[in-house]
Amino acid sequence: MPEPSFSGASKPFDDALPNIRELNRQELEHLMQRLGQPAYRARQLHQWLYSHQALSFEDMTSFGKKLREQLAGSWAIRPATLDATETEPAQCAAPGAIPTSKFLVKLDDGVLIESVLIPSEERMTACISSQVGCALRCTFCATGQMGFKRDLVAPEITDQVFLLQQEAHRLYGRGITNTVFMGMGEPLLNLDNVFESISTLTEQEYRFSISERKITISTVGLVPEIGRIATSGLKTKLAISLHSADQATRERMMPVAADYPLDELSRAISAYNTKTGQPVTLVYMLLEGINDAPEDARKLARFAKRGLCKINLIDYNAIVNLKFRPGYGSAKSMFIERLLDAGLHVTVRKSQGATINAACGQLATRSGNDGAKP
Ligand code: SF4
Repeated sequence: MPEPSFSGASKPFDDALPNIRELNRQELEHLMQRLGQPAYRARQLHQWLYSHQALSFEDMTSFGKKLREQLAGSWAIRPATLDATETEPAQCAAPGAIPTSKFLVKLDDGVLIESVLIPSEERMTACISSQVGCALRCTFCATGQMGFKRDLVAPEITDQVFLLQQEAHRLYGRGITNTVFMGMGEPLLNLDNVFESISTLTEQEYRFSISERKITISTVGLVPEIGRIATSGLKTKLAISLHSADQATRERMMPVAADYPLDELSRAISAYNTKTGQPVTLVYMLLEGINDAPEDARKLARFAKRGLCKINLIDYNAIVNLKFRPGYGSAKSMFIERLLDAGLHVTVRKSQGATINAACGQLATRSGNDGAKP
């Protein structure tokens, strides 16, 4: 069988038929049951769609002619497609960094989402979206300013990784090593689809199989859902956008923090540590005059030491919202020093992709998101 192109360029367009890639695994099972097929056929169908990435039922050669015709008579296969690609000009990338690329991905209903490839010497990280827009309206985030449009279904999440895998080879000559749910949306508000997409991406016998340990789920700290991840048996990593260990400041930055006070969040982190044996990464964006004082560092250290936590300090991109300015200079150095003195594991992440609005908090599509077919 020829290697399928996932660009969508050769897909058999049939807009009149429903898209089979909108069905989850259980729905595929029900479909095959309705067609009088044994259960293993649903698994084969899933494999054709997401391992072989078949773009036509004709290609599904392990199915008899009648079944292929039945499927083709009622369903179309329409994966997400790439709408636009933008790569950071080399001269705008951070010193020593490899330019980041941002992708506009078009879903079957014409809605656009954004995904990002973040290359480094050792890694190729795909940053993917889980929702169209976001309801949580964090004050520093462009996606939050869009409002919430809809959840992505699992195949729309996996399609981003498949598309970015091709683009990683095309643009950088190597494939994806890590996947992070840090694009548009709060993944924990769409956890069923996130779980299902992870199960597809990590299927061992599938052509594109990645390790659960190379996947990071990022959240603003939704306590009940952190519990669900802890008990899911997944070996993925968890990152929590803390941004402040002071309750009032945190609520000003992330209104949803009012629902999950820091004490509750801390208990959820400890329970996660105990259940999974894994640390949690606390993501902290230093903002001048907001959360970069010595007292903020002290509070952060105290919070982090209540559980098994690492700290990832990230830069803020002032382009999104001029209300805030990134923490820098001696205040930043002293902040880091205080955390290190407290014995914490701290990484400092340089912002990548800011000039193409691909950095943290900058993802927001500007057109085509009225939910209407183009
Ligand atoms: S930071 Fe995350 S949770 Fe907050 S508004 Fe943006 S996408 Fe939503």
